[in-house]
Amino acid sequence: MSYLDKSLEEIHAALKDGKVTSKELVEESLKRAHDYQDELNSFVTILDDAKEKDITDNVLSGIPYAAKDNYSTKGILTTASSNILSNYVPVFDATAITKLKEANACLIGKTVLDELAMGGTSTTGHTGPVKNPWDTSRLIGGSSGGSAAAVAKGIVPYALGSDTGDSIRKPACYGGIVGVKPTYGLISRWGLFAFASSLDHLGCFAKSVKDAAYVINNMKGIDDNDMTSWDSSNIDLVKDIDKDVSGKKLFYIKEIVDELKNSNQKYYYNFINILNYCKELGIEVKEESIDIKLLKGAYPTYMAISCAEATSNNSNLTGIPFGNKKDGDNPYEVMINTRTEGFSELIRRRFVIGSFILQKENQEKLFKNAQRLRRLIVERVTELFKKYDGYIVPASGDIAPHFNEEIDRLSEKYLLLENHLVIGDFGGFPSITIPSGEIDNMPIAINITGPIMEDAKIFNIAKKLEEKIGFTPLSLRKEK
Ligand code: GLN
Repeated sequence: MSYLDKSLEEIHAALKDGKVTSKELVEESLKRAHDYQDELNSFVTILDDAKEKDITDNVLSGIPYAAKDNYSTKGILTTASSNILSNYVPVFDATAITKLKEANACLIGKTVLDELAMGGTSTTGHTGPVKNPWDTSRLIGGSSGGSAAAVAKGIVPYALGSDTGDSIRKPACYGGIVGVKPTYGLISRWGLFAFASSLDHLGCFAKSVKDAAYVINNMKGIDDNDMTSWDSSNIDLVKDIDKDVSGKKLFYIKEIVDELKNSNQKYYYNFINILNYCKELGIEVKEESIDIKLLKGAYPTYMAISCAEATSNNSNLTGIPFGNKKDGDNPYEVMINTRTEGFSELIRRRFVIGSFILQKENQEKLFKNAQRLRRLIVERVTELFKKYDGYIVPASGDIAPHFNEEIDRLSEKYLLLENHLVIGDFGGFPSITIPSGEIDNMPIAINITGPIMEDAKIFNIAKKLEEKIGFTPLSLRKEK
């Protein structure tokens, strides 16, 4: 097995002992990125001039990684997978990228997303759809699909993503890897293209919970450039990751699990089996109800709030200060032509919805009601968190869909099972998806979500469950 496929701690030890060099790891990672590009299309840009870095005591030093193409990278093309930014080269790094530079991590490429991170399929990027490494006739989910596919295939040991609705935690499920978004503000949003600022989170994909803990430990921290970031210097996600979890309490959401039982028996029994593992670990698991009207309303609420915020945030994409400018006889024509040609239909649709919701006469009924629903959901979950350390739910309702599979977006299955992860973003709760097994040779997963700022506890529970489950990621199954 190549060192690139080992855990971050093992790679670090090998680098320290001189068994492998940073240069060799970077070269191998770049080679894999190129070798699998035709098959997966996970990269917008592969950084062929990526350089090795000195090995320090930081576990990430000298090790390659990839970042979603909505992270600003100084001097490196950053497109957000949109035609409107197809030529944009930022003059600054996102804070998370700066922190990883300081850790001597080696960025080897920028990954494909759904255009401007709006979507759940990774099929809408301007460089084409990302394929699922488990079965290339299926999608990997989105919007951080390129990063998920790159980790699932073993191109990089970890990759960065962003999560506004579920964009890390859903593709992690479809790719059979770990995906985490920590508490809102644990990681600075500076330099991440704003989609919906009150919901945007940075996070990562990795092969294991502990690897993810190392990555988030290095990305986090208070930042003057993001007023919503906070001092987390007392939080270490690795330190207590192996602590005994007996006595911890989790709940599962009855309405979501009932819907799984009705619609997907295999997934349901896998979930019940995971609950048994919890019991074996000494974790008490109970059933709790959340008003089904609130649960079914979560996704429409998400769409209302995120489209409204996205319309406002993306109003700077005019082609005039930066981006792919189109011709016109006056500034208005330039903006109209730039935005009409630059955005795909899906994005324009979201901006129409967002503008409608924000119109003065609609604000009370649509925007403010969505805010109220968001608050009711967060209040109910927060009330439950007074009695529990977190909740556990199936991460999706099914395995990754085929390209062009028909999806009934008004079905209970879609509303309850496929979109409940937005609750984690509504409350800014730390939330992690870990693989729980397979159906028809495709991965399925569970998600654990906890109270804000209790990230370490969520990592600890996830790590212990991961050990019990004993899932082998795809990239470790074949001889490389
Ligand atoms: N699928 C959701 C959407 O389409 C989530 C996107 C995200 O988290 N960036 O908006």
